[in-house]
Amino acid sequence: MRIHSFMSKGFAGDCITVEADLRKGFPGFDIVGLPDGAIRESKERVRSAMRNCGFRIPRERVLINLAPAGMHKTGSHLDLAIALAIIITQKMAEGIFPVLEAIPIMVVGELGLDGSVISVQNVQGALVAAQARGCKLCVIPDQGISTGEYAVACVRTLSAAVAKVQEYLRSQDVEYGKVVETPHCEMLDNAPFALVEGLSGVRKALEIAAVGGHQLLLFGPPGVGKTLAASCLPQVLAPPDLTMQLEISRCRSVLGESDDLVGSRPFRLLSQTCSREDFPREAALCHGGLMIVDEIASLGKGILNWLRETHDQKKVRLRIDRTLSEFPADFQIVATMNACPCGQLGFEDGRCSCTPVAISRYWNRLGAGLLDRFDIRFPVDPIGGNPLEALDFDVDVAYDRQRKRYATIFPGIRRNADLMFRADARSGFIPDSMVGLVKDITRGSLGYRGILSVCTMARTIADLQDREEVTEQQVAYAIDLRRYGSHDFYWRSS
Ligand SMILES: [Zn+2]
Repeated sequence: MRIHSFMSKGFAGDCITVEADLRKGFPGFDIVGLPDGAIRESKERVRSAMRNCGFRIPRERVLINLAPAGMHKTGSHLDLAIALAIIITQKMAEGIFPVLEAIPIMVVGELGLDGSVISVQNVQGALVAAQARGCKLCVIPDQGISTGEYAVACVRTLSAAVAKVQEYLRSQDVEYGKVVETPHCEMLDNAPFALVEGLSGVRKALEIAAVGGHQLLLFGPPGVGKTLAASCLPQVLAPPDLTMQLEISRCRSVLGESDDLVGSRPFRLLSQTCSREDFPREAALCHGGLMIVDEIASLGKGILNWLRETHDQKKVRLRIDRTLSEFPADFQIVATMNACPCGQLGFEDGRCSCTPVAISRYWNRLGAGLLDRFDIRFPVDPIGGNPLEALDFDVDVAYDRQRKRYATIFPGIRRNADLMFRADARSGFIPDSMVGLVKDITRGSLGYRGILSVCTMARTIADLQDREEVTEQQVAYAIDLRRYGSHDFYWRSS
């Protein structure tokens, strides 16, 4: 009799088939299929757990085969599956369970000697593997995961696991804790947003960035609320879909943060002292969410390079258990900086005495490549008067429009900014006429990336205004959002 289990390997992992065979002869317990020490020891845990939960220890010779045979098996993920395979085979022989060659279930979990089921890393990976294998039921430790388009049974004891399998065999269409995706999050209109409400246009800029997934750079004098504004962004972000929730949770689980399923997007502040060794981990933990980079112009060249590279590649390599494993690292960047070296540029009273050359040099610290990736460079202005303020936006409508536009044809695309990386999808949604319009207005001052960035932002602004057609007006707004940093540093002349 065979069931499935899972062995975690970094972010990824392998599906393992656990096969139990009971045959007459001297009582014994063998595990074959290249098990490591931890798995060989599982014999003792399985035996104790079975005894302490009142199951009979087989008087027959027990043979457990772990397939594929050529792969080394490590860790304690397989305990529960081994115990279940034995108990199910016994019950089949006793005529309690129907005799089946294989049962399409995924079982992961470590066993305590008392029969308790102990949580393991990367259960999310097992759920994904289960889906790929067409498993009808997942039996996993009770560690806050009660989700899935899969039937998931969270158990705390071996007895409970056996009961779930029995229930499944009796009526195969039972639904176990089938939970739907987290509903669309309510926009929080309260405190933090209220604090930046006085900053002209900031809320609109945050909405454009959040809805379309565009990279955002907030600049202005110290103390005007740039960091506060950046930290308001998570409130406007739609919650991740189920696939993304599993990916986010998987990164957190494998990196030892938490084994629970995460229903919201991570947002993390990049430390100024982040080292080359720490950066990939930070990036993986930001997957699906936001990386907030405070005072970006004061960061070292190395860290700025890693940021740019990782953001382009959307993945990192990390050493887990002495092997390199690839993790997804698809995050959105929100950065803040002063507008000039002395920091005073932006106040109307002319306190700033920096020369244009010094200001230009200051902005150049980011490097042209990284600056180019910021679609929105938004002045957080203590005085006000931003033209965005006058626009009427509906965030929920805009999320809906994008979902409907991409979900069926291009499921990998979630937000307009994803079009930047998907040449196959672009032609349909960014017509040549739009590209031509941007070129005309900017008179060739933008590179290809800049043009695409403007087009995707114009699309987002149109979505926020609930309009299908992108007009010259939205394109003009988008160009305006991108204009600072390369030639134009003086959004308010002093
Ligand atoms: Zn200055």
